[in-house]
Amino acid sequence: MKRAVYPGSFDPVTLGHLDIIERAAALVDELIVGVLNNNAKTPLFSVEERVNMLRDVTAHIPNVRVESFSGLSVEFCRKCDASFLVRGLRAVTDFEYELQMAQTNRSLERGVDTLFFTTALNYAYISSTIVKEVAFYGGDISRFVPPQVAERIYDRICQMNQKTANGV
Ligand code: ADP
Repeated sequence: MKRAVYPGSFDPVTLGHLDIIERAAALVDELIVGVLNNNAKTPLFSVEERVNMLRDVTAHIPNVRVESFSGLSVEFCRKCDASFLVRGLRAVTDFEYELQMAQTNRSLERGVDTLFFTTALNYAYISSTIVKEVAFYGGDISRFVPPQVAERIYDRICQMNQKTANGV
């Protein structure tokens, strides 16, 4: 059984992530999307919300499973009995960090290799951060995220604005 883990924050999932998920799932028997529960960051969506959105937008791919995890990606791989880590490379700016991470992970766990996917050109400039920023200022994010995710982002920003207006 060839199993891979695609780890990330996915706050929230974008069409760029989804493209990687579809392409990676076609290569392995099972792809586990690992949603990182990172206490150091203040996410727009809770880890449960991110997992649910990912499950929703990957429901059409039978060999994809979505789980949350905390700690090291290689530990999560070991738990899942996965031999590959999947990462996306958007631009040269991603390269240095990703190379360092892949080499660190390989030295931590020799049984895990990192597979890099170059991103689709039409999604290469998309990041979860940029999507949130555009939405925050009322811009159109329909080309960047699946429709149900766009709706969730606008709803969350609306809730946040209401809280601010009410002084909460
Ligand atoms: P992290 O916080 O680990 O960077 P992200 O959710 O931002 O988590 O990204 C997870 C993975 O998806 C990373 O390998 C990243 O390079 C990749 N990725 C992010 N945005 C895109 C995109 N637009 N197209 C393809 N891959 C992407």
